[in-house]
Amino acid sequence: MKRTVYLDNNATTPIHPEVKKAIVEALALYGNPSSMHQQGRMANNAIEGAREKIASFIGTEPENIIFTGSGSEANNTVINYIYCNVPDCNICDRKNKHYNKHIITSAIEHPSILQTLKCYERRGVKVTYLPVDKFGTVAPNDVKKAIKPTTCLISIMFANNEIGTIQPVKEIAEIARHHNIYFHTDAVQATGKIHINVHDLNVDFMTMSGHKIYGPKGIGLLYVKKGIKLCPLIYGGHHEKNRRAGTENTIGIIGVGKAFELLSKEMDANNKKILALKQKLKKGFLEKIPDISFNGQQENSLPNTLNVSFDYIEGESILLSADFEGIAVSTGSACSTGSLKPSHVIMALGVSPEKAHGSIRFGLGRENTEEDIDYVLDKFPPIVEKLRKISSVYK
Ligand code: PLP
Repeated sequence: MKRTVYLDNNATTPIHPEVKKAIVEALALYGNPSSMHQQGRMANNAIEGAREKIASFIGTEPENIIFTGSGSEANNTVINYIYCNVPDCNICDRKNKHYNKHIITSAIEHPSILQTLKCYERRGVKVTYLPVDKFGTVAPNDVKKAIKPTTCLISIMFANNEIGTIQPVKEIAEIARHHNIYFHTDAVQATGKIHINVHDLNVDFMTMSGHKIYGPKGIGLLYVKKGIKLCPLIYGGHHEKNRRAGTENTIGIIGVGKAFELLSKEMDANNKKILALKQKLKKGFLEKIPDISFNGQQENSLPNTLNVSFDYIEGESILLSADFEGIAVSTGSACSTGSLKPSHVIMALGVSPEKAHGSIRFGLGRENTEEDIDYVLDKFPPIVEKLRKISSVYK
């Protein structure tokens, strides 16, 4: 049987067997968590147990965690709250503050930030998209310089999903605090790969997602600092303390709670192993394949992410050839699959469109082994050589 090597863990992760077990058990908790009877209470207790595990993992209290339908929804919730333009809104605490219409973000955020802000721009909101340096880092000084009297939110991702670069989040959060501006960080990729304590970081909002940490899909998490009275993105019942309506996804929440519990036990050992495998992969590529370069920070970066540009060939051709050999990689963010535009993240690093088109993301995970990397290092050189032979731009 052909070997399969899954190296697309930034797009999504396989469910941890223990999470799977917890989910199967959770199927028995059919009661509506809002119901007062025994079945409802059992589901509700399990949800609150999950919330406690998650809160303790990021150093906060359970009431500061909101369950959403995805990381994308959590990101949208923050922006929606900041721009609540309901005159005399009696739900959130943004009343009369909607004239503050400037937000600072970076050019390399996930589409769930960038596309949402594009939409708000059409409603008159002003957005500053900060550039990054050639390694994908936002300069805290650029954040300082971009602040206007009307700035109401700074949103900078913790770590980038395509290149793995980790941002100076603590420094930027301090700048925001100093100017009395809300700070949000999208930590969907950083969660489980970096130790995060929201209290130490002093962030106001932080986004996470279940399916990037060996948990289920369709469950996102938003940390909201105590004292902020959030406006819901989705109206309805009184779920999540009036901050996100909709009957709770009991199964997803229990699954993600288990995923966090496992992170607290396994994360360090996993990351150590994964980093060693990434270094082996990088070294092997350098030895075996000419005309390649690595995108993003190489030191201050996620332990699992390696983004490589293979000159003279298209990322899509590499991806399909690798898939034929059972190797799953990605040409950038999964959400841009089907788009022929080069990745906005790689382009923001100042590389040529040709190099951006030839970039491949290797996202390692807890299930990868030395043998997987040996297999990739065996299969990739001939793939690249073959594609270069038929490339019109290869000399
Ligand atoms: N933010 C980042 C950095 C991501 O990588 C992703 C998913 O790829 C998201 C947000 C969206 O998360 P979800 O897939 O849960 O909507």
